Amino acid sequence: MLLTLKAKLYPAVEQKKKLVDTMEQFNNACNSISKIAFELKCYNKFKLQQKCYYDIRKEFNLPAQLAIRAISKVVESYKIDKTCLHLFDKFGAIVYDQRVLSFKGLDKASITTLEGRIVVPMVYGSYAKLKMSRIKGQVDLIYIKGDLYLCIVVDVPEEIPLTPEGVLGVDMGVVNIATTSDGVIYSSDKCNEVREHFSKLKSTLQSVGTKSAKRHLKKISGKERRFKTNTNHIIAKQIVQVAKDMNRAIAVEELTHIRSRTTVKKAQREQFGKWAFSQLKLFLEYKSKLIGVPFVSVNPRNTSRECSVCGYIDKNNRTSQAEFKCLDCGHTEHADYNAAKNIAARALVNMPIAVCPKGNLNRKPTPLVVGY
Ligand SMILES: [Zn+2]
Repeated sequence: MLLTLKAKLYPAVEQKKKLVDTMEQFNNACNSISKIAFELKCYNKFKLQQKCYYDIRKEFNLPAQLAIRAISKVVESYKIDKTCLHLFDKFGAIVYDQRVLSFKGLDKASITTLEGRIVVPMVYGSYAKLKMSRIKGQVDLIYIKGDLYLCIVVDVPEEIPLTPEGVLGVDMGVVNIATTSDGVIYSSDKCNEVREHFSKLKSTLQSVGTKSAKRHLKKISGKERRFKTNTNHIIAKQIVQVAKDMNRAIAVEELTHIRSRTTVKKAQREQFGKWAFSQLKLFLEYKSKLIGVPFVSVNPRNTSRECSVCGYIDKNNRTSQAEFKCLDCGHTEHADYNAAKNIAARALVNMPIAVCPKGNLNRKPTPLVVGY
């Protein structure tokens, strides 16, 4: 499985200057190449190289391989859209390959700059036991708010999937981030608090409009997103571990649409919710693969309207955002918990598992709310 590993660089002051200067010059070169490509309508890498390689190297003082990388970056960008001139950010990413960037052991990278190669210490979080031989292809050097990072694509071995003795269904939503068929609810309260805090702060700062307010605005942008990402990591990790400990597969809904039972009105929130959903699903999936938990997606149709006890489907079964009451058998419970059990049951139907779906899932503990 290919994963992207983000490593933070810790360059010395003069090293940082070299790297940042290189980025700036690299992107200046990209802009110049882009103008040539667009004027000549020439988007073929080799033809473009013939036309501008020597001039670019001379004008921007780029090492040979970086000039080639700049041409590649421009060509890649025009592959998506050729209708307008592309301009690149001053500190846009440099895409390195193994000829211009290599690793020295697990904690240093040797990086080509305008002034030759430099060896820079780096630190990364997870997969610290990774072998560098697992690095595949290109490495991006990126600059975020004064810090430099490398985005490294690594091939991580997947664990052989266990043979499941059951399924843990996971329902995802806006009010509750995730609810499992064990009855554990990860509520969005904390996330909503954080979102409200930031949106208030943003609107205050926008109305102030001074230089320092703008600086502050820039600083907080992305903080909410990072908080949500971190929360999704924590939740996904816990759910996957619970499945693993009890030899179960994980089932989620296919994310073809955002759940209509969200009560949130603002379009912006829905957008945020959509992004958060697919991120949580992605995290659940790769974390499952890493530790050998089978991962399945099921058809989401009516999972929130179906009674998990008798199977009766009716949109009026759902009396409120939180409550489910079956109009046929009278069964009542938390709506997301009911949906999570349906998701698990659907996955069980398609799996060669020697358990009775409904019987296995029909325990009825009080939902346990985990605060997020
Ligand atoms: Zn029922």
